[in-house]
Amino acid sequence: MADKVERIKCLIIGSGPAGYTAAIYAARADMKPVMYTGMEPGGQLTTTTEVDNFPGYPEGIDGPTMMIQLQQQAERFGTEVRIGMVTSVALSNTHGGIHKVVIDNGSTLEAESIIIATGATAKYLGLPSEQRLRGGGVSACAVCDGFFYKGQEVAIVGGGDTAAEESTYLANICSKVTLLVRKGEMRASKAMQHRVANTPNLEVKYFTEIEEVIGDQVVEGLRLVNNQTGEKEEIKVTGLFIAIGHTPNTNIFKGQLDMDETGYIITKGKSTKTNCPGVFASGDVQDKEYRQAITAAGTGCMAALDAERYLAAVESKEEVEA
Ligand code: NDP
Repeated sequence: MADKVERIKCLIIGSGPAGYTAAIYAARADMKPVMYTGMEPGGQLTTTTEVDNFPGYPEGIDGPTMMIQLQQQAERFGTEVRIGMVTSVALSNTHGGIHKVVIDNGSTLEAESIIIATGATAKYLGLPSEQRLRGGGVSACAVCDGFFYKGQEVAIVGGGDTAAEESTYLANICSKVTLLVRKGEMRASKAMQHRVANTPNLEVKYFTEIEEVIGDQVVEGLRLVNNQTGEKEEIKVTGLFIAIGHTPNTNIFKGQLDMDETGYIITKGKSTKTNCPGVFASGDVQDKEYRQAITAAGTGCMAALDAERYLAAVESKEEVEA
């Protein structure tokens, strides 16, 4: 006889602030959540040093410690945290349907509800010197790390709304910001470009790419190249911010869940509901605009509440039909 397939009431995929907050709420609501952590347990915050903007930590907290504490809090109420990746899903389209999930160890699960909290991954340029200095002055989050460069000269790369917004944010903190745009124009909205143009300590260099991030342990400067003329120059900066976009981690859901043109999961109205009944999305996987730990945590809470209501509705209908 074949082994019985494990049935899970509430499966949480992903272990960032959205996933753990969903787990805390789901566990307290007796939904017996099981979490699969993914490849990067703790999510993007584990790559940050100090988190100074999460309410409740007056002295700040380092990202990895915060994620361990969130895990402990989720486990305290009975969440089962499993190290592993979900490799494929077959989502049901019917109310009360069962979703089939395959894990990287080869096992198959059945889930009555799923909370997706797989996050997004910041894109990097891919230069070896950039990768070596991640955490040593190279960051993909100005709002998280900008404060550490107070009064210093920094550079930021990108030409979209994020680069425009983050460059003006940094200009409030840093003495000088150089924005590096690879084309002759920015992709950002006109309003954002206007803000950039009107920020006095913000210089935009068009047609400019980074050849190398200079520095041994920490960022000391950049070697730039003009991609039209081939002309090279070096600038001195202590920080480099990468703002060239994020990739939502949604590959396993493609073709099953509604997504926008860039792969972010579309949720209904102000809820975390997806187009599949019983499947909810929270955190950066459905938010390309705010992308903060606190907003991710907020939508994780919403997802658990939405899942709880959904399971209750399924259960009461079953009771009526029985
Ligand atoms: P985008 O994809 O819009 O822009 C990415 C930018 O990075 C582009 O200018 C692109 O250049 C550049 N880029 C990509 N790869 C490289 C590379 N290897 N080297 C140099 N430059 C590179 O990403 P954003 O994060 O800016 O925005 C994502 C979405 O979020 C957008 O829809 C945006 O409107 C939205 N958003 C809205 C905000 C708001 O309304 N307040 C704030 C932040 C984001 P190129 O143009 O040459 O392709």
